[in-house]
Amino acid sequence: AGQAQSPLLQGLNDEQLAAVTLPAGHALILAGAGSGKTRVLTTRIAWLLQNGYASPGSILAVTFTNKAAKEMLTRLSAMLPVNVRGMWIGTFHGLCNRLLRAHHKLAGLPSTFQILDTQDQLSAIKRLCKQFNVDEERFPPKQLAYYIANCKEEGMRPGDVPVHDADSRKKVELYQLYEDQCQREGVVDFGELMLRSFELLRDNDPVREHYQRRFQHILVDEFQDTNRLQYAWLKQIAGDLVGGRLQTRGSVLAVGDDDQSIYAFRGARVGNMADFVREFEVQRQIKLEQNYRSYSNILDSANELISHNSRRLGKNLRTDQGPGEPVRVYEAPSDLDEAQWMVDEIKQLVKNDGFERREIAILYRSNAQSRVIESALFNAAVPYRVYGGLRFFERAEIKHALAYLRLLENPNDDTSFLRVVNFPPRGIGARSIETLQDAARSAGCSLHDAVSAVPGKAGANLGAFVAMLDVLREQTQGQNLRGIIGQMLETSGLIEHYRNEKEGADRIENLDELVNAAESFVTQEGFGRDAVALPLDEQGGPLTQSPASQGLDPSLPMLNEPLKNARAAAGGIVDADTGETLSPLAAFLTHAALEAGDNQAQAGQDAVQLMTVHASKGLEFDGVFIGGLEEGLFPHENAMSDRDGLEEERRLMYVAITRARKRLYLSHSQTRMLHGQTRYHIKSRFFEELPEGALKWLTPRQSAFGTYAPESGSGGYGAGRYGSRGGHGGGYGGGFGGGFKSETFASPPVPQQKAEPSHGLKVGTPVFHNKFGEGKVLAIEGAGDDARAQVNFPRHGTKWLALSVAKLTIVD
Ligand code: ATP
Ligand code: MG
Repeated sequence: AGQAQSPLLQGLNDEQLAAVTLPAGHALILAGAGSGKTRVLTTRIAWLLQNGYASPGSILAVTFTNKAAKEMLTRLSAMLPVNVRGMWIGTFHGLCNRLLRAHHKLAGLPSTFQILDTQDQLSAIKRLCKQFNVDEERFPPKQLAYYIANCKEEGMRPGDVPVHDADSRKKVELYQLYEDQCQREGVVDFGELMLRSFELLRDNDPVREHYQRRFQHILVDEFQDTNRLQYAWLKQIAGDLVGGRLQTRGSVLAVGDDDQSIYAFRGARVGNMADFVREFEVQRQIKLEQNYRSYSNILDSANELISHNSRRLGKNLRTDQGPGEPVRVYEAPSDLDEAQWMVDEIKQLVKNDGFERREIAILYRSNAQSRVIESALFNAAVPYRVYGGLRFFERAEIKHALAYLRLLENPNDDTSFLRVVNFPPRGIGARSIETLQDAARSAGCSLHDAVSAVPGKAGANLGAFVAMLDVLREQTQGQNLRGIIGQMLETSGLIEHYRNEKEGADRIENLDELVNAAESFVTQEGFGRDAVALPLDEQGGPLTQSPASQGLDPSLPMLNEPLKNARAAAGGIVDADTGETLSPLAAFLTHAALEAGDNQAQAGQDAVQLMTVHASKGLEFDGVFIGGLEEGLFPHENAMSDRDGLEEERRLMYVAITRARKRLYLSHSQTRMLHGQTRYHIKSRFFEELPEGALKWLTPRQSAFGTYAPESGSGGYGAGRYGSRGGHGGGYGGGFGGGFKSETFASPPVPQQKAEPSHGLKVGTPVFHNKFGEGKVLAIEGAGDDARAQVNFPRHGTKWLALSVAKLTIVD
């Protein structure tokens, strides 16, 4: 009683309120998209703190992305005057990193250990394969990387992997060699972060007990996508098995939605939910059934679609919001046209409906789809941002710069050493590097330490490289992050190199951006000159720091200071032995490595957001476009052959649809350029699984498979779909658009036998296009299916059109 008055709890519905104010004990919230799961989780933390049921140091919250973690911290510090630094809020990887930093000795790692991102890991494996003459046809490095990641996710060290034939023996051997290499170099990959910290907890009773006692409240968002190892890790932190029963000291709140489990390919296990209920003897399960995110046309679409899955735990979702706009569906003749349509719609949304660009997302199943969309946005001068793909920290020049920085921290990091030993070029050839690698191998030391063993000129060059690194280390002693990076860029010769390069200006710009990233990291995360070493207190964390000791001005009120609080947030990585915090450089490098594997949260320009459906999980936007809804693309061809795969694709589609608040746009294209070839695509089966009443077809509706058979006679396809405009339809429209089309698509999916269209176009022919209006042919290229015409449209400029898809009619 009385609690309902708290401003924190205002506006929550009964179920949400019950979840936020749960008494101690384990609980599961199982609820559909947009029902407020994440909001409940955040509010519960605030509620626990506000009422004195928990101290910041006793909270452990796991989020799915760094972005989500940051958002949670910002929201919390906006709600409460709270020392967010004491709270452990982050991704599994982020939290494991924190744990390993604090206990690196016990974990068998150097204090300067570096994190290998996926790309680094692959190059480390390639290096290994070369060194041991592995047949890369038989053991492709990519597959090895996958295999190793899998083993780690299952908690298996090389000794634990069952061996049944020569191949599996070889793979285990390579796994072992890879582990040795990483250990020697002081680097850990993402899987290792998880496994190593799991083992740290498992094998060190005092450490485990310490954290079990400390974390009274463990909260996990997106629980449906935890894998086996992550779940095992949670169990270690929560309690011990005593006589077959899990004895826990704190409370675990798991929040999830089985319909949004989309990481099975990475080992996610929906079964963890059932295991959790059983093993933790969960007493309270709460369902949230009210959706606060979307209008009902959108929600109905999501509900109807997912009802086609058979393996579901079963939930309902309703909304009090009205139907809203219908879901708009567009069929494009080509991927280029699809992209152009998106751009046009987006412009309208911004201009006529007052949408912010950052509130509009374009989602796609595969990264490769973004290129065409990007170029359409670019041509239309619509600012956009791509999440995923080549992210900032993955660009070559940035990776080079980071490699130098990592070598300053840890000279034994061979991956970094190899990346820059001859970059910029300093006369160290492949042969010398091989000699060096041989020397290092036989001495059992790092490349850095083996340099003196290489004779002759090559040895001298290598010696100069190492000496340069030493000088750089001297020069940057005691400097701040900005100073360190600036000095590194000069001394390493990187800037000089790019200055002399033709296309170097962009790269220099990116390197400048790196300095900016470091700067904002310092101000946002509280690292920098004023970063302080915080001793671990009794509770294991810096719970009761005065504002001054956090690098904050004590005269400033803590209330309403989200930025200042957030500034102290990501800190708190403290060495358990020495009480030392990470150096600003080490902290920044960690940040860069973790960030490279995650969405970047960039502030700044108002830009349309492009990302894969996977990356969109947990996010929401006013307007959402889902493109490429075609058989083979979405659902993806790799997943179409079995029911599990198909159901996962459907969940993926469910996630995509439920990101939208106000407007949802779906599109598919008849043709798409893939691997340099134009392919014909059939629209996705998912269209058949959506409620007709919620949709609005912008292009005439077709029936399911076999869609492209002419409806009647020769004019069927062309005329039926696009009609013959005004007086322009005539013979040509029917012949080309209709006749050719019906030939092409009469019996998909074997569009190879196409009739040769006699398009009858010549330079100078006046034509009419459904979208661009009247124009004149400027040039014709290619024949048959590949025929293209360059057409000048007075109102839209000059365009190249594929004649097999563009709807052109000759104007008499
Ligand atoms: P997802 O499954 O996609 O992660 P979710 O269940 O975590 O979704 P939230 O992101 O927490 O849902 O909430 C969805 C939206 O609804 C948010 O904008 C949130 O602020 C809003 N919301 C949640 N609960 C309420 C409420 N009681 N009143 C008003 N808005 C709410
Ligand atoms: Mg959520």
